[in-house]
Amino acid sequence: MKFCSLRSGSSGNATYIGYKDVNILVDAGLSGRTIEKCLENINVNPSDLTAILITHEHNDHIKGAGILSRRYNIPIYANEATWSAMENLLGEIDYNNKCYFKTGEVFNIGDVRIRPFKKSHDAAEPVGFSFFCGRNKATIATDLGYMSKGVAANIMDSDIVLLESNHDLDMLINGSYPWPLKKRILSDHGHLSNKAAGEALKKLIEMKSIGIVYLGHLSQNNNRPEIAYGTVTEMLKENGINYEVNMALRYTESDVIEI
Ligand SMILES: [Zn+2]
Ligand SMILES: [Zn+2]
Repeated sequence: MKFCSLRSGSSGNATYIGYKDVNILVDAGLSGRTIEKCLENINVNPSDLTAILITHEHNDHIKGAGILSRRYNIPIYANEATWSAMENLLGEIDYNNKCYFKTGEVFNIGDVRIRPFKKSHDAAEPVGFSFFCGRNKATIATDLGYMSKGVAANIMDSDIVLLESNHDLDMLINGSYPWPLKKRILSDHGHLSNKAAGEALKKLIEMKSIGIVYLGHLSQNNNRPEIAYGTVTEMLKENGINYEVNMALRYTESDVIEI
């Protein structure tokens, strides 16, 4: 299994998962050209993409999906509510490239088993994904209002996790966002703070049920990589856990992890 965060953050998200002859893009929230460049940088030909999976209809997750689907004839997978919410944002999509899954129901693309799971976020029917490739599992869980038991259960036993660490609470509260927006981000349908990510990781690591961790979907205005990294690492250290977390960044691809 290969895993690479191509871009992560409030300005655009895309993650690559590869297994055997299957090449999956999870979200395509940047321009088509940027995603093509990211894929080329990790030696994946965009025309070899098997599918684009969509977590939810926000622009930072779908911006380039329509363009890539049209340019390379790639199927887009989403649940019905997400399709309804994003359809007129994507432009014309070939009938054969409109694919549906049901939240909570496992489906296959080639030899990759995929479980889309429910999460709390202010979109039509947002999901996270777990990917099962042979014995390995990777989970993508960003855009989370809070860490529900259901999301935690899906993250458990993952060899690779991309977890949201969206904002520093002080930066958000003291920052320039209007109050209604701050309230939205802080709500159960908003985004996970650095502290909440640290708390969730502490529990998962204590249960020894997690492998490589990437912190991602950082806010541009209310966070910085070193703050997210520092907050989470400190929280883990305070609990006697020495654990190296990785950062999924806004403008660069992560290393390609191959397990
Ligand atoms: Zn979102
Ligand atoms: Zn997002």
